Amino acid sequence: MIVQCPYCGARYEAPPGRRFYVCPYCGTVVSEGRTYERVYIFKPSVDKTAAFRTALGFRPVGAPEDLPAASPTGAELHFLPLYLYHVVFEPLPELETYAAALAMSKPPFELPSGYSFPARWRTPFKPSLERVGVFHQPDLEPEAAFRSLEEVVEEARTYASVFKTRVQVEWSFEGIVYYPFWALTYQYGGRSYGALVDGADGSLLRLEYPLSRRGRAEGLALGVAAALGAAAVGALAAFALGLPPSSGAAGGGLAGLGALLRLTAFAAARRGRYEGGARL
Ligand SMILES: [Zn+2]
Repeated sequence: MIVQCPYCGARYEAPPGRRFYVCPYCGTVVSEGRTYERVYIFKPSVDKTAAFRTALGFRPVGAPEDLPAASPTGAELHFLPLYLYHVVFEPLPELETYAAALAMSKPPFELPSGYSFPARWRTPFKPSLERVGVFHQPDLEPEAAFRSLEEVVEEARTYASVFKTRVQVEWSFEGIVYYPFWALTYQYGGRSYGALVDGADGSLLRLEYPLSRRGRAEGLALGVAAALGAAAVGALAAFALGLPPSSGAAGGGLAGLGALLRLTAFAAARRGRYEGGARL
């Protein structure tokens, strides 16, 4: 169906039957035909230039030395919708908290697994007529998105167990929060690579990068060393346990084989991939 944005007038295609509709141009949220008021945003703290500096200056293992001089080719600011919840744990009022969960089942890019979003430091959102980024549609119901906050609930249960208390989880839906990400592309040696930077805190979440010839050679050397080292440790452990050393060497060698295969694959590949860890 076609939705017309009451703020900027843009018409956009959206699947029917959703609770909220987000204008992809200005971020205005429509719910049951009315403009929805409780919308917040995490303001981007880094611009395009700073995002590229973070990505290209990261220097992962095996990347060419002159990677910071690669040519930026594209930068898109994406705002992903999160649902904001106020959560209380009866009968422990001190555990009251706000939490935010991704409101999309298929985000436009892969996020690190277990990525958790902050709920503090949001500010009220005002739509803008100038296009600052791409605003994405929520497609989950608040009930479904809340399930990804299991960690928050688990933490409260652990805390409560110290007091030998069982907690009852009650949440209320507080609104929609937009979270910014920079999706970047750059060129090096005539090939194209991508990167993803958290637009709110500026951290690097993902980086594809070219592997230098030297980087690949180092990867292979590391792989061989890991395999030999593991075999030697295996033999030593078998000796200490009174087993014939050959069986231990085979075991250690096998454990090292996985590392060898991974590093050999790394050495043969033309591109590397860095993944940022989940936020605590
Ligand atoms: Zn609009």
